Amino acid sequence: MENKLDKIMDVALKRGFFWPSAENYSDKQAGFFDYGPNGRALKENIIRIWRKELVNKEGMIEIDGCQILPKSVFVASGHLTSFNDPLITCKKCKFKIRADQLIQERTKKEVPEKLSMDEYDKLIKKNKIKCPKCKSEFSKTGIWNLMFPLGIGTERKEAYLRGESCQSIFTSFPRIFKTSRKNLPFGIAQTGKVFRNEISPRQNLLRTREFNQAEIEVFFNPETENDFKLKETKLNFHIKNKVQRISVKEAVKKKIIISNLIAHYLVLLKEFHEKLGISEKEMRFRKLEDKDKPFYSKETWDFEVLTSTGWLELVACNHRSDYDLKGHGRISKQKLDVVDEKTGKRVLPNVFELSAGIDRILYALLELNYKEDKKNERTLFSFKPKLAPVFVAIFPLVNKEGMPKVAKEIFNQLNEEFDCFYDESGSIGRRYRRQDEIGTPFCITVDGQTLKDKTVTLRFRDDLKQIRVKITDLAKKLKDLKI
Ligand SMILES: [Zn+2]
Repeated sequence: MENKLDKIMDVALKRGFFWPSAENYSDKQAGFFDYGPNGRALKENIIRIWRKELVNKEGMIEIDGCQILPKSVFVASGHLTSFNDPLITCKKCKFKIRADQLIQERTKKEVPEKLSMDEYDKLIKKNKIKCPKCKSEFSKTGIWNLMFPLGIGTERKEAYLRGESCQSIFTSFPRIFKTSRKNLPFGIAQTGKVFRNEISPRQNLLRTREFNQAEIEVFFNPETENDFKLKETKLNFHIKNKVQRISVKEAVKKKIIISNLIAHYLVLLKEFHEKLGISEKEMRFRKLEDKDKPFYSKETWDFEVLTSTGWLELVACNHRSDYDLKGHGRISKQKLDVVDEKTGKRVLPNVFELSAGIDRILYALLELNYKEDKKNERTLFSFKPKLAPVFVAIFPLVNKEGMPKVAKEIFNQLNEEFDCFYDESGSIGRRYRRQDEIGTPFCITVDGQTLKDKTVTLRFRDDLKQIRVKITDLAKKLKDLKI
């Protein structure tokens, strides 16, 4: 069977979703991708829905912070000491690879993320793992820091590209708290690029060195962490290799989830992914065991979606306690505690984080929506209409009898409100196929009848149905279809 990951990558390359950055240069590096027009549009639609379903719905503040931050920020955050992967180097040919990755590949067993260097060495010895290039032995496991260092200005002052986008949320917190008139609990959100010097980037978009995050940090008083009213919503929980489908209320009661606050946001996360068109049976929340949690987390839930690569982590949800504000307060010598209006007392806020990997969400959506329609000799992406890179394509049937002029008028009118695309090249059948291939849900064709009665053909991607619609009714009709 053809590897589905490779197939989707192939389709993405062909149809202008994304491609390796600087692909024609011999010194291009792995783990960097450029988004093409369709990938960029899809990415923006994902972010737009994220903003609507999470940020706006919850009355959060959104910022756009810098990608380069001074050294002290990452001393405070712990990234310079703890944001590491285990590195092994071949004694003979100097080939380098992530220890946990190679052990996992060879043993076909999950390797916990946070083992000690000694434990990796033992596993390598026990499983007789040798260099895949030259069969020689590996050196002892070492630490590889994932941060990209930079030098700022003529003095080349030490700074770093951010390894996660949240640090500027923490450094901006005092000013946002002062200027936004928000009270605890409230969220600060941000989308943008982050950078990790991965030892061995792989699986194309799934592990890259430059990628897009959409992060939310909810600041709260731990004393009122249970003040959230919960819905009866049921979620699929995956705990210690068992799946349980229970309501979030029950999960809190059984102490599966630490607090109502976390349960509230897990529900929102599920609802957001449903808006993207992912069904419940394709999603789960996996509770990380202590040995797998990030260094700052009190409780971690990975939101995962079922793809051909297995369950793929799309969003990491971390209870960061007061780790961040404590660290930043200590290094910047500022008091970061605030008055909670509800209790009237000063408190150093705790943080719950929802850290989404946009590129992974995009990949999952490509895979889950890709269809081969053998009967009609076409392939398509069955994206929800509001997610599709192009919402409606407009064609003149032929390039004569004034049809292009009418089609362009319709394009100009609809383009005010929708993502439109105009195309007059090639046969009408080929133009339809091209739009199917990038997932355009609707096509409008101006034909001979249009010139007589001012109606057009509206064609539907999924069932290939065609109906006649008056030009004057198009905007309203399309608005109803934008779900
Ligand atoms: Zn070697």
